[in-house]
Amino acid sequence: MRQRLSSEPDRYRGRRRVPTPPRSRYAVVGTAAFVGAGVVALGAANLTDYKDVHQSVLHDLDSAQISQDIQARNGDKADRSERAGTESTDTTAAKTLSDADVEAQAWVLPLQDYTFTAPFGMRLGKLHSGIDLAAPEGSPYQAVHAGTVTSAGYQGGYGFAITIKHTDGTEAVYAHSHRLLVKTGDVVKAGQVIGTVGNTGYSYGTHLHLEIHVAGKPVDPIPLMRENGADVKLKIESPYS
Ligand SMILES: [Zn+2]
Repeated sequence: MRQRLSSEPDRYRGRRRVPTPPRSRYAVVGTAAFVGAGVVALGAANLTDYKDVHQSVLHDLDSAQISQDIQARNGDKADRSERAGTESTDTTAAKTLSDADVEAQAWVLPLQDYTFTAPFGMRLGKLHSGIDLAAPEGSPYQAVHAGTVTSAGYQGGYGFAITIKHTDGTEAVYAHSHRLLVKTGDVVKAGQVIGTVGNTGYSYGTHLHLEIHVAGKPVDPIPLMRENGADVKLKIESPYS
């Protein structure tokens, strides 16, 4: 699937990591407009405390084993990152592996630009089980996190929808699409374009309805994604933080 967006690694490499306190680690690195600009490296990508990216989710899921695995990989990865960090255009195997590690863990925003139109929560006596992001019909949207497509097709009120299962067990659902660009079984990475925004199913306007499921149940995507470096409200993402 890498051929779909050949410049993909640059969007990770171009981020400047800014050390932040643990409770505000989503603060400021890039904006949605910055994403996909193909920016060449501005500085070393220090992944040393990269494990922070997923700690909250892992904690919630009580997945101590996964956490240990990530920490074990981090030790290895940090060394490589230090060496490769100053080379902006290198294509060595070590650097590629490092990028792949980042891609496997990063959470990003689903759209380049959007208007936040509806929060997760009770609405008209029913649970609105996701968030709504309005954007023009046909706008490409991307996976917020790496995983495997477990369904892609027309699903009643969701219209044309995609479900992706992430490696940490969480799931993302993308609904009301105009077009679907992946199929069941596809392995996708964070930031990969998977569909276009539409108005299919029970939809009151062209928008992306995004759900995140933890342990099979929908949760508010906003705090979960913010804890993982992607702030939907502020339109900021910082996969290195
Ligand atoms: Zn919705």
